[in-house]
Amino acid sequence: MYLQIVLATGLRQEFTYLATEETKASYTPKIGLRVRVNFGRSERVGLIVGVNKTTDVDFKKLKPIIQVLDETPLLPQYLWELGLWAADYYNHPVGDSLMHLLPAKLRQPIQNQLIQLNWQIADVEVEFGRAKKQQILWAQLRKLAPAFNLNQLKSIDIKPSQLKPFLDKKWLTTSYPKPQSVNLQLAEKALELNSEQEKIVAHLSKVKDVFSCSLLNGVTGSGKTEVYFQAIADQLIAGKRTLLLVPEIGLTHQLLQRLEQRFNNRVLALHSGLTEHQRLNAWQQAGLGQADIIIGTRSALFTPIPDLGLIIIDEEHDQAYKQQEGFRYHGRDLAIKRASNAKIPILLGSATPSLESLANVARGRFSQWLLTQRAGIASTQTYEVVDLRNQPQSAGISEQLQAMIQVQLDLGHQVLLMLNRRGFAPSLQCQSCGSTAQCPACDANMTLHRRPPRLHCHHCEHQQPVYLYCPQCQSHQLKPLGQGTERTEEQLNTLFPNIPVHRIDRDTTSKKGSLEAMLAQVHLGKPCLLVGTQMLAKGHHFPNVTLAAILDADASLFSSDFRGPEKLAQLLVQTAGRAGRAKIPGTAVIQTYQADHPTINILVNQGYNAFAEQELTSRHKSGLPPLGHMALFHAQAKDATQAFALLSWLGEQIQDPALQTLTESLLLFGPMPAFMARRAHYYRAQLQLQHPSRKLLQQLVAQLCHLLDQHPAARKIRWSLDIDPQELG
Ligand code: ADP
Ligand code: ZN
Ligand code: ZN
Repeated sequence: MYLQIVLATGLRQEFTYLATEETKASYTPKIGLRVRVNFGRSERVGLIVGVNKTTDVDFKKLKPIIQVLDETPLLPQYLWELGLWAADYYNHPVGDSLMHLLPAKLRQPIQNQLIQLNWQIADVEVEFGRAKKQQILWAQLRKLAPAFNLNQLKSIDIKPSQLKPFLDKKWLTTSYPKPQSVNLQLAEKALELNSEQEKIVAHLSKVKDVFSCSLLNGVTGSGKTEVYFQAIADQLIAGKRTLLLVPEIGLTHQLLQRLEQRFNNRVLALHSGLTEHQRLNAWQQAGLGQADIIIGTRSALFTPIPDLGLIIIDEEHDQAYKQQEGFRYHGRDLAIKRASNAKIPILLGSATPSLESLANVARGRFSQWLLTQRAGIASTQTYEVVDLRNQPQSAGISEQLQAMIQVQLDLGHQVLLMLNRRGFAPSLQCQSCGSTAQCPACDANMTLHRRPPRLHCHHCEHQQPVYLYCPQCQSHQLKPLGQGTERTEEQLNTLFPNIPVHRIDRDTTSKKGSLEAMLAQVHLGKPCLLVGTQMLAKGHHFPNVTLAAILDADASLFSSDFRGPEKLAQLLVQTAGRAGRAKIPGTAVIQTYQADHPTINILVNQGYNAFAEQELTSRHKSGLPPLGHMALFHAQAKDATQAFALLSWLGEQIQDPALQTLTESLLLFGPMPAFMARRAHYYRAQLQLQHPSRKLLQQLVAQLCHLLDQHPAARKIRWSLDIDPQELG
């Protein structure tokens, strides 16, 4: 037998191996099973994608596989198909795409633990003769009849390896356990829905068992979460499970608590905070139907879930759904594909929907459901733009804002300040020669941190002690330039000495449990100041925050990325939305030197939907996504010219008359240096392709990848492809 194997390599290629009598003795090779193989000089785990009786490959060159690792495929058919579809759509190697769907542990050569979770004890009469030890062992196991799992085995101090003789003799058999059935236990009463909420919940309960995509476009605090919960309850009543995706691990905890309060047990969380072992366990539990509500971040989308009835994507606009390296898939888009394959509804929720989703509403592909009012007792929030021109300020906090903060604190409320830059200051500047502290490996400033003191490049993680004198001119006159969250925290401590300040950014929340601990403090409701990066803007429900300030709106106002205005609008509206979520009305303050900027104007005066409509029109005019389609080739090399040269060569191939049918309407930009031309010692270039037809662009890109795969230089230069890029550069 000849086996077609794919491996998690960058190679767009299948490899042929032999299955010998010996390998067949383990498990019979079948499509979807994992195998151990020798590849080059190392051993790898691969997946069987084909089983053939003949081959064109020279028999003498073929190596046998080492072992078939599984008895049944680990990926259910629906995930296997999703993986293949994604490989095709993103033009990503099949092996890497499929392996990506497995928890990391199962990409290693360990036996399929899922099978080992359930040993069936055969009903056989057994003679042991002199094998006394085995007899004792068998007697212990028999007590667990008819079946037992890994935990039970552990509790009687037996190792799985000790089972081998019984498995060989077939006194023990393994089987894929049947999924458990759905179990509905409401622990807390559902809220009475308002009429807007009611409409979408009713709609979702009507469209079960067919694919449909609904966009829940609801202002912040309008009760989207309550809609999710009631839609989940409807699924449970119908015996179906729900997958709920959230952008950030920090939000899983909060939602998990709320879900557990409402639904009792049977909620499972999958996110990057789990150890590999915990992740594997959760993945298997989900596959066995031991949970009915699965909540997780991006990759939880690849969880096996029997009887899945609904997928919900919370904060669907969030950038975190796009994987930015390796297999660059978009979690929202793959979730939509999964729902479509499974013929189930999917619900996308956001107060600031992506332009992609709004365009799909306009085309009639998605239905849209508006929640225009804050839910329950919550009042709304109003905007106040603080023009920083001619306004005294200390460390980025204007006097006007300072006074507003004081008023709220005196009333016993909480205040949130968002500054999307961590560290003490974005750079350290020499007062004599004007130079700033540059990262030795990147074309970027190093950020100054105080706790602990260091210069830290946020692009390559290079860290070094803070300079005592300027490396250019030896002057000792060094000063922090601009503000980061650490500096704001320090300033707030000075301005409001009796008020606790909680800083929430990547530096203060990297330790497990630290974010939860800080949020718990805030939820006590006592007057406090919260300062943090965009982490703070996302989804959190702080009932006692009445003032939310965006300290520096200008930082993202002049982005060269065409998505810049959209991202800024989302960040502003989401941050503003943290204020006034309970009885007391809230105010959102925007500090800017560009008080008349059109983006700020339309957001403040007409709201996000008006902004989005205008922005869509302008994208339309330039053929930009979501109306046109985009693909981005990246290349990077240590040599300053190589990456650029490779993409120049690729650009020339595109001019080939043979490709004319595909390139007629193509817009080609570049090659050009990436926005950060050098990062982590690599020089980076990119080539941007824009096309009105997704299909033609896909065909073109496939051909270009093929050409690159054959180009000798492309082996030495790291190149990658980003379909539907979310970030340019
Ligand atoms: P969103 O997810 O849209 O930002 P949430 O679901 O967090 O909003 O709801 C905000 C607040 O409104 C929560 O405290 C929630 O309990 C409350 N709420 C939601 N729906 C209702 C309702 N129908 N009646 C009363 N309160 C509600
Ligand atoms: Zn200097
Ligand atoms: Zn760097």
